[in-house]
Amino acid sequence: MQIYNSQSRKKEEFVPVKPGHVGIYSCGPTVYDFFHIGNARPFIIFDVLRRYLEYKGYQVTLVQNFTDIDDKMIRRAGEEGISVKELGDRFIAEYYKDAGALGIRPATVHPRATEHIPQIIALVQQLIDKGMAYESNGTVYYRTASFPEYGKLSGQDVDDLDAGARVDVEDEKEAPADFALWKAEKPGEPAWDSPWGSGRPGWHIECSAMSMAYLGDTLDIHSGGRDLLFPHHENEIAQSEGATGHPFVKYWMHNGFLNIDNEKMSKSLGNFFTVRDILKEYDAEDVRMFMLSAQYRSPLNFSRDSIEQARASLTRLYTARDNLLFLLQAAPEGEPGEADRAFIAEVDDCRSRFDAAMDDDLNTAEAMGALFDVVYAANTSVHAGTAKAAIQHALDVLHQLTDILGLLSKKPGELPIEVQALADQRVEARKQKNWAQSDALRTQLNEMGYTVEDTAAGQKIVKAL
Ligand code: AMP
Ligand code: ZN
Repeated sequence: MQIYNSQSRKKEEFVPVKPGHVGIYSCGPTVYDFFHIGNARPFIIFDVLRRYLEYKGYQVTLVQNFTDIDDKMIRRAGEEGISVKELGDRFIAEYYKDAGALGIRPATVHPRATEHIPQIIALVQQLIDKGMAYESNGTVYYRTASFPEYGKLSGQDVDDLDAGARVDVEDEKEAPADFALWKAEKPGEPAWDSPWGSGRPGWHIECSAMSMAYLGDTLDIHSGGRDLLFPHHENEIAQSEGATGHPFVKYWMHNGFLNIDNEKMSKSLGNFFTVRDILKEYDAEDVRMFMLSAQYRSPLNFSRDSIEQARASLTRLYTARDNLLFLLQAAPEGEPGEADRAFIAEVDDCRSRFDAAMDDDLNTAEAMGALFDVVYAANTSVHAGTAKAAIQHALDVLHQLTDILGLLSKKPGELPIEVQALADQRVEARKQKNWAQSDALRTQLNEMGYTVEDTAAGQKIVKAL
């Protein structure tokens, strides 16, 4: 597999540190609110990366943190009149609900910063002992001048950074590019005891300490959105490599940004959506399908049109699956004939193309094309006489590939939500004896490819074959 490494700025052959095992650290959400649709992009992508690596036979340890202490947490807890801990507990619970709805599997470990204070303090102390950090009025800063490779991820030059920041040099710091590892307590803020007095950790040190605690000195993959490349990830390298003397990360993966109607999502523009909001209007699988419709490094535009396109594609996928299941029931047993063997070979070829696309820096857009080639082959080659083994093979491949993407999770017979909505409206219309509306809804359902039958047991909606 080839992975584009943000540090070398090229695709590299993926070779994990330990054969057969992959350790991934993904920067997770700051849990001061519901997570937004932009955050959902990395969570879905790196969930798919994990699933794909597992499909390839690797044992994957995925670590995704919760940032549960920072300025935003403190401000929001103050506004709500609750403790930072209570705020964190609440939005961690909400994270699991929304992530679960989107089919994002829980990571192997979800460490919380506030539960790793001893590891963070130990790492800061190690840096002080090596002369790479210094304390000033109870705050500890990283001495960027002590790490000559500072800037190697982002291509930033420390001298430029120093020059740019010259105007607001803080007295406490030796140099403007130095950054806080540990922050001295401010009145009213949560604080922990440390060798430098009470205080709280900085944001960057949290990810260095927790990633190495679970994955060792060298991680195979570290991921996050592009915005984290500098300074967050640059600082993580300085901290971790400064302390251990070992390479911190083999492959850096950064996802492109999600925009809304071609604009940057922001509260002030009124185009800011939480996943909780979006799922009131759209089915979670439609959102997932949409997220995977582009390669992860490209920017991605969220619009009503794009999600409706995703929904239409998903419907095609479900229809093909349901048709195969229907034909399977009465399919002839016995050895597949020549045409069936050709169909099996075609399906295998689609799977190879799916794998090749995923092996090319997780190109889900291309992989989706190969998946729809399975659909096309099934729609054109499978009929009442197709051998059971051939149909079963197509179904197996379809399920294997869609499991990697986290799609096609609804059981047969479960109606798409838009169909279910019309079906519910029709039940309501009949209750009110509004026969004209009930008939209109039946016509609409027929046009969408569903037959409607009013039986003694109630309305029966079946996908027409
Ligand atoms: P945060 O809670 O802001 O630290 O973000 C959690 C994750 O979401 C990080 O990996 C961010 O880089 C990523 N992220 C934030 N906004 C977007 C966006 N609009 N599109 C894609 N990824 C984003
Ligand atoms: Zn991080």
